Amino acid sequence: MPGCATCDRFLSPPTVTPEGRCPSCGRPVEPGGAHPRGEDPERTPPGEGEPAGEEDLGPVPLHIKILGVALVVYLGYRFFQGVEWVIHRI
Ligand SMILES: [Zn+2]
Repeated sequence: MPGCATCDRFLSPPTVTPEGRCPSCGRPVEPGGAHPRGEDPERTPPGEGEPAGEEDLGPVPLHIKILGVALVVYLGYRFFQGVEWVIHRI
């Protein structure tokens, strides 16, 4: 997280100016590991590609896929149980 040594406080990345300066005193802040906006080569420029918020999502984890398959199998099983129940009621 970027922080201003002059004001002795931490700044969240959106509050830092695009030039990487403190909004209170105007001095350059220490990046603290955060990437300044517009300098990440892997990031697509704004206005291109997918909407923001979905670009950093990696591949779906395996356990999520297994959970999804199990859910589909279970709901399919329950669906056919319901169909069978309806058939027996007719
Ligand atoms: Zn400051």
